[in-house]
Amino acid sequence: MKIVLFGPPGAGKGTQAKLIEEKFGIKQLSTGDIFRSHIKNQTELGKKVKSILDSGNLVPDSVVVELVVDTVKNPEFEKGYILDGFPRTVVQAEEFDAFLQSTGSKIDACIGLEVPKDELIKRILSRGEGRADDTPEKVAVRLDVYEKETAPVMGYYKKTGVFSSIDGVGTIDEIFGRITSKLA
Ligand code: ADP
Repeated sequence: MKIVLFGPPGAGKGTQAKLIEEKFGIKQLSTGDIFRSHIKNQTELGKKVKSILDSGNLVPDSVVVELVVDTVKNPEFEKGYILDGFPRTVVQAEEFDAFLQSTGSKIDACIGLEVPKDELIKRILSRGEGRADDTPEKVAVRLDVYEKETAPVMGYYKKTGVFSSIDGVGTIDEIFGRITSKLA
């Protein structure tokens, strides 16, 4: 099973991805986590993307798509995966679909978490992870980028018939229940 967990920054994708991982035995793939780990380890890729992540803007599509395609070829992703933070542009969605198609596979479901903007801002600014992009200014940039570049990805998955959205406000368990009922 291949799932896209979709939603704006602060929607709770990472939290829910971990729960789906446990229940369904498929791996979470968070592009943001991968980039942050490269930055921390000062790899070539990390050096290339650091200033982009710090600014709240998007890493170029070609870099992200290549990274995800390379990653899912890993045996631990054989049973399926949950994409968290990818695709973030329609181009990424199209290119990844072309890759999946070439391997005879497809995305089974895209689940969008709906959370009002003021709640997103509150959650990000109070989570205290010490991320360089969790300042009020950078959060504003990220939400802007989400609306302009990422929200259209919903239309893409609606067109391919795999999109469903759920209310992302509530307890972690309530939200997880909504997700599993969509996946059942
Ligand atoms: P959040 O969802 O809280 O904004 P992420 O951890 O998903 O955080 O992403 C952090 C940053 O990593 C993004 O602001 C962006 O710079 C980069 N990034 C992650 N995924 C992608 C992607 N699919 N395309 C382009 N940039 C990405």
